Amino acid sequence: MKKILVHSCCAPCTTATLEKIKKDRPGQSISVFYYNPNISPAEEEERRFSELETYLLRRYGPEIELIRGKYDNGSWNSLVEPLELSGEGGLRCKICYYLRLLETFRVAEKRGMDLVTTTLSISPYKNFEWLDEIGRLLSKKTGIGWFLDKWDYKRSLEISKEYGLYRQKYCGCEFSMRERLSRSERKDS
Ligand code: SF4
Repeated sequence: MKKILVHSCCAPCTTATLEKIKKDRPGQSISVFYYNPNISPAEEEERRFSELETYLLRRYGPEIELIRGKYDNGSWNSLVEPLELSGEGGLRCKICYYLRLLETFRVAEKRGMDLVTTTLSISPYKNFEWLDEIGRLLSKKTGIGWFLDKWDYKRSLEISKEYGLYRQKYCGCEFSMRERLSRSERKDS
């Protein structure tokens, strides 16, 4: 039986991703790794975690292990902040993907997992090619397998609605929060 570690950014993005992995890879052991030091403020990181925890328990019971990574927004910020002005979808996001996937592979290595993937590619705002490139390179380096799919975003909306999940209004970092705010202010004016 293969052991899969799924990096998760939040409950809504995990819904359809897990559904597809379970369908495509029956009988394999799945653990979910919540690691998002990018999220600001801390209350938001906590809220997304507890929404994910509640969803997994409601839908799968104890079958899916949930692992929580360390939250250190200060260290994340000091690495990514110099690239703030690249904007959402720019180079700062590539570094953000890398930092989150690097830690996911580290945890997979420590726990003797066979395969890694991430929920991040479900979002139409994320760069699939960058995520896949980073995953492949880390896979080559560690010897742990990697797979990625353009998970079903529409299905994630359906499941989120069915379970009444909290859907955040911005990607996660303080820069994305400011950018979303200024976009909606421009729309309103
Ligand atoms: S916009 Fe999202 S992916 Fe990009 S740096 Fe911020 S949190 Fe990371």
